[in-house]
Amino acid sequence: MKNKKYLAGKHFVHIPGPTNIPDRVLRAMDKQIIDHRGPEFSEMAVRIIDNLKKVVKTKNHLIIYPASGTGAWESAIANTLSPGDKVLVYETGHFSNLWIDVARKFKLEVDVIPSDWRSGAKIELIEKKLIEDKEKKIKALMMVHNETSSGVKYNIQKISQKIQDLKHPCLLMVDTVSSLASSNFENDEWKVDVMVGGSQKGLMLPPGIAFNTVSPKALEKYRSSTLPKYFWDWEMMIENNKNGFFPYTPAVNLMFGLEEAMKILNEEGLDNVFSRHTRLANATRKAVEGWGLEIFCNCVESYSDSCTTIFSPKGIDPDHLRSVILNEFNISLGMGLSKIKGKVFRIGHLGDLNEVSLIGVLGGIEMGLSKVGYKIKKSGTQEAINYLAH
Ligand SMILES: *Cc1c(COP(=O)(O)O)cnc(C)c1O
Repeated sequence: MKNKKYLAGKHFVHIPGPTNIPDRVLRAMDKQIIDHRGPEFSEMAVRIIDNLKKVVKTKNHLIIYPASGTGAWESAIANTLSPGDKVLVYETGHFSNLWIDVARKFKLEVDVIPSDWRSGAKIELIEKKLIEDKEKKIKALMMVHNETSSGVKYNIQKISQKIQDLKHPCLLMVDTVSSLASSNFENDEWKVDVMVGGSQKGLMLPPGIAFNTVSPKALEKYRSSTLPKYFWDWEMMIENNKNGFFPYTPAVNLMFGLEEAMKILNEEGLDNVFSRHTRLANATRKAVEGWGLEIFCNCVESYSDSCTTIFSPKGIDPDHLRSVILNEFNISLGMGLSKIKGKVFRIGHLGDLNEVSLIGVLGGIEMGLSKVGYKIKKSGTQEAINYLAH
């Protein structure tokens, strides 16, 4: 490394969140604070909640917290459950496991469906657990929609259908932090009771706000839940939100940014946003195949639209590869998390990006692979270009 204090050109943020923030969103936040109990704020908050409900496709309550996604995990649990309640969690990877940690801290009984993280949802395993649960002890199924550590997307619609078919009364809680505004998510159609979302991924905002949706069924559970809650308390939020207010100080300037981000999503059209993500994700995988590397997700229909996790070539430390790519080409890539740390690296391809920026990133990775001594047989970048040029 030449120890440069300044790297010329744009810094490419391609960790799977936080993501690039569009200039328009940055400008929208660069404003003097306003009174969060005044009319300008309350009118904006009402508009924002209405618009965000369209992104999430819900008519249920939508709650906005000044928090990171982790807070919305905790809120989903604290608002609906009581100590000793049983929850079922599908182990999707690093993020499901953190959510499990939250549940255990709250003294819930956590039944985990273990998995290899790689092969998508085995719905029959969920089905078996629900059928065995004759006494309906399982109060909630916690699912991650898009597992950011593995680059695997889970079919929430099918899982929800299974719960309906079996007439199991459990709540369906879904973490959409890295799929929101990148992959289609239909809160109401898929009968999701509680959605957990965050600002810093597909929504193209800085970290700092988090979301829950609350179905009528979840609200009913709230009434009998005895876990303590104050900051996360839904009722207090819902009451205040009716008039565009919050029980405590909201993240005002992030809300300016959120309104602008939703304008941007609206101008592109949500369906176009989703198909752009799918296309860029496909191009990324063409590149990986071209380089002759292995994609961590081994189930094609479960490929993520937001991020791709890739095994580092034999003998090459992925964190060394990432540091070469950062220092030489000014690109940040994601590291392997928990049990796959030191085995994989991750490319985030979500948020504000297009074909040209993706090709830049893939080119940088290709150069980095050469620099660390990997013999590239075929230009993956060229494969991605070929794909995107059609
Ligand atoms: C990023 C992320 C989170 C939340 O993380 P925070 O750091 O608390 O914002 C949760 N779940 C998934 C799937 C994520 O990708």
